[in-house]
Amino acid sequence: MFGLKVLSAVLPIAILELTVSAACSGDAWDVIIVGSGPAGIVVADRMSEAGKKTLILEQGGPSYFATGGRARPDWLNGTELSRVDVPGLYKSIFSNSDGNLTCPPEWLNSFQGCTVGGSTAINAGLFFQPPASDWDRYFPDGWKNADMQRAIQKVREKQTSTDNPSQDGKRYLQSGYEAAKQWLVDGAGFKEVGLNDGPQNHTKSKVFGHPVFNYEGGQRSGPVKTYLQSALARENFSFMTGARVLRVSREVDTAIGVEVENSDGGVNATTEHCVTDGGRIIVSAGAILSPQVLMWSGIGDAEILTNISSLGLIKTPSQDWINNTAVGDKVFDNPNTFIELYSDSIASYNYSYSDSRPEDRDLYLQSRSGPYSFASETSAFWDIIQQDEDLVGVQGTIDSSGFQDYFEDGTITLNVYGTSGLRSFGRVGLDAKGIALPTSNFYADKRDAQAVATFIHNIFAALPSTLKPLNIAQNSTVDDLTTWVSTYSPYTMGNVQHWSSSCRLESCVDVDAKVIGMKNLFVVDASISAPLTTNPAMGTMIIAERAVERILALDA
Ligand SMILES: Cc1cc2nc3c(=O)[nH]c(=O)nc-3n(C[C@H](O)[C@H](O)[C@H](O)COP(=O)(O)OP(=O)(O)OC[C@H]3O[C@@H](n4cnc5c(N)ncnc54)[C@H](O)[C@@H]3O)c2cc1C
Repeated sequence: MFGLKVLSAVLPIAILELTVSAACSGDAWDVIIVGSGPAGIVVADRMSEAGKKTLILEQGGPSYFATGGRARPDWLNGTELSRVDVPGLYKSIFSNSDGNLTCPPEWLNSFQGCTVGGSTAINAGLFFQPPASDWDRYFPDGWKNADMQRAIQKVREKQTSTDNPSQDGKRYLQSGYEAAKQWLVDGAGFKEVGLNDGPQNHTKSKVFGHPVFNYEGGQRSGPVKTYLQSALARENFSFMTGARVLRVSREVDTAIGVEVENSDGGVNATTEHCVTDGGRIIVSAGAILSPQVLMWSGIGDAEILTNISSLGLIKTPSQDWINNTAVGDKVFDNPNTFIELYSDSIASYNYSYSDSRPEDRDLYLQSRSGPYSFASETSAFWDIIQQDEDLVGVQGTIDSSGFQDYFEDGTITLNVYGTSGLRSFGRVGLDAKGIALPTSNFYADKRDAQAVATFIHNIFAALPSTLKPLNIAQNSTVDDLTTWVSTYSPYTMGNVQHWSSSCRLESCVDVDAKVIGMKNLFVVDASISAPLTTNPAMGTMIIAERAVERILALDA
């Protein structure tokens, strides 16, 4: 029997304190969700709305000020803002670990958010709807564009977003936007559009525009500020931070609970949280950690399971293991290329964590306006490259400053990443301690490098004389570019940290997101997504909405 004490019954976050007198009796949950990333939060909100007694377990701690996050530079003292709330502090996540927002190496061999909101608490907030063709080409029946319409609509209604974040209505740092527009719209034939316009038959082919961010009122929004708040208002919903789920406890093909690591040095090493008869466990730990949770639960590649069982990490007897090599297989991240561009007409802008320009700091503090009201990207564009029958999506995102060896004023960085339709995938394996370790295997299929090179070649053909690439020659051939993008350097072969596709529909989970071989265990997060044409956060939330529709339909 265990009792839960609600420390704060009102918004913001109700954090629970757990006292355990015996494992797994009394209070049981209709739904336990592992992980409070965007998928886990959407699932939790909809499950509690449907009347299910719902618990989220999140291994990380607070992020936004409203969740108890207090990490911030001094210039935010006296405000109700943490570093997470201020969009312009985004890039500092790569250099400043204040607040423990990312996963420590003993939990994960990669760079991801381990905090309330998952990576949506540390990301740039770019919020782009995937094109209709992604659902129609890369998802199974029941997940085609026509099937996704309700889910798309729900996310668009509930999650606020904007392509004009500054609260004074002005657009800032526009010299890079204007230079890119002259190049891509006037020169290369891209169409300037609202980048999330047209929800029903959405397209991302040859379009250019202002980035859409999931911000509100000049601050980071995201599922913590929207879906999580409506969940917290329900009595049947509970949220626990600092709760790292080690594995799912199961009786053969039925999940009965989850085992959570006790970090407080209590008598027991772990605590068991259980589901009711007919209850469900939904793993939403992200594309790298969901496979680890499954493997530690005795579900995965038999060779990996054998290795980690010798470390004592699997409690399920070996005769009940579910051998499925699709767990962790074909994980995907976007291969990134940085192109440095220079123009006399551009004013570069460098954001700072603690030494922000006084006038920009004041503009933000007084009216949530100016450069700190967004995360540094000033434009985004897409094209689709045709290779025989295949279509490969390629995205360009333009930032407001130079990078690495190119910081002269007038320099901006174009990130080019290959997206949907690429054929090179990696695998989520486990290191010698059993901790998730992803590989990305970029450009293992040479056609992928050729697709990205063709995109760069096409746009370079339209470069005006006023805009100069600094780290790769403008007159490079497609072959030169293919070699360049697929050779390691500070500018090429980089991870974007958009991991997905590690537990795919129809091979790792079925079309209801149910783990194959299990009756009541599900995975709902970026793991079950195919590689999308766009940055994955909005697509992941849409996938979560659709998965909930399908899971709830199983009750009928
Ligand atoms: C630096 C960075 C920038 C990015 N920028 C963008 C962007 O601008 N736009 C965009 O669309 N996408 C962006 N992304 C990607 C996007 O944020 C992710 O694709 C998205 O958050 C994935 O959502 P998810 O629900 O699958 O998992 P996650 O966001 O990874 O959340 C999983 C959560 O589960 C928790 N968890 C994991 N294991 C356990 C466990 N065993 N027990 C308890 N809790 C657990 C984790 O702590 C985490 O909070 C970025 C990612 C990063 C890292």
